[in-house]
Amino acid sequence: MMKQIIHHFNNSKNILLAAHVDPDGDSVGSLTALGLSLESLGKKITLYSESAIPAVYRFLPASDRIVRTINGLNGCDVAVILDCSNIDRVGKAASTIKQIPEIINIDHHTTNTNFGTIQLIDTWACATAEIVYRIIKNIGVRITKAIATSIYTGILTDTGSFRFSNTNESAFAICKEMVEYGVDPSYVAEHVYGPFSLGRLKLLNRALDSLEISATGKLSIMTLTRDVFEKTNTHPEDTDGFLNYARNIKDIKVAALIQHQLNGNRTEEPVSENCYHVSLRSDGTVDVAAIASAFGGGGHRNAAGFSTELTISEIKSKLLKLAETI
Ligand code: 5GP
Ligand code: MN
Repeated sequence: MMKQIIHHFNNSKNILLAAHVDPDGDSVGSLTALGLSLESLGKKITLYSESAIPAVYRFLPASDRIVRTINGLNGCDVAVILDCSNIDRVGKAASTIKQIPEIINIDHHTTNTNFGTIQLIDTWACATAEIVYRIIKNIGVRITKAIATSIYTGILTDTGSFRFSNTNESAFAICKEMVEYGVDPSYVAEHVYGPFSLGRLKLLNRALDSLEISATGKLSIMTLTRDVFEKTNTHPEDTDGFLNYARNIKDIKVAALIQHQLNGNRTEEPVSENCYHVSLRSDGTVDVAAIASAFGGGGHRNAAGFSTELTISEIKSKLLKLAETI
């Protein structure tokens, strides 16, 4: 697979790279790392993300070159889909992208559907950025500080700063190497985890206030509706990390956060009036990717999610029913 991918990259001229909607650090980092690498080989690149890039990742090199719309195929001969368990995760452009002759699927989700013409899926990789690193090494790109910062950020954020169960030996080995290429860990941490708005703290307050625990004591549910985001002047991306508090409560096995699905950029109309995004985290004993899949979503064993048009009370009662079996 690696050989085939390198062959396609070498023979292509015009490459579209896409991240998933509501991108996280791994998605953005993989996008900019691979994009800049392919550009250094003389390829024309388009970096695509339907959602606005969360403010905390805008320090990433080339993140200002990520476009939110594409008009037709523009002569792209290869598409690279990063960190997406299915192609529809790229958002509305999926139907256009599907027409690109070669679609390379690079991912580490257990729920990946094997879409595309070539797949490089490694569910043991700590992040998609780890797989991107291997490609870059194999293709012989010179790793610049900009590329290194992108890879480092992808691994740092997807491993929860080397705390989650996907933290493997390569997470440390690759990040060490990236530091040798000039990455400044404190600079990255300042941006990723650095100062945040008062509104975000108030949003956390509201999220914690909404916390409910199932009768079994094993499931926690937090709920954030659109009006709360409006009142605190915050964005969906501001909820990043909230679930860690709920998951760390003693005896909790699964933590859920139900939030109104809003487009990343709050100046836009909501995706749909009554669409919710549900994020799930597990303590390691429950496979939340399986739960998310049952609702049409996906993810990893310990971190997964789905979007739904069920009402809040329907979502809660389904989750509570599930809680009786965990
Ligand atoms: P979060 O819910 O925190 O956004 O995402 C947790 C994990 O689940 C991430 O790895 C993310 O890619 C995956 N995930 C979240 N929502 C969805 C979804 O609607 N569909 C799929 N396939 N994966 C999702
Ligand atoms: Mn990832």
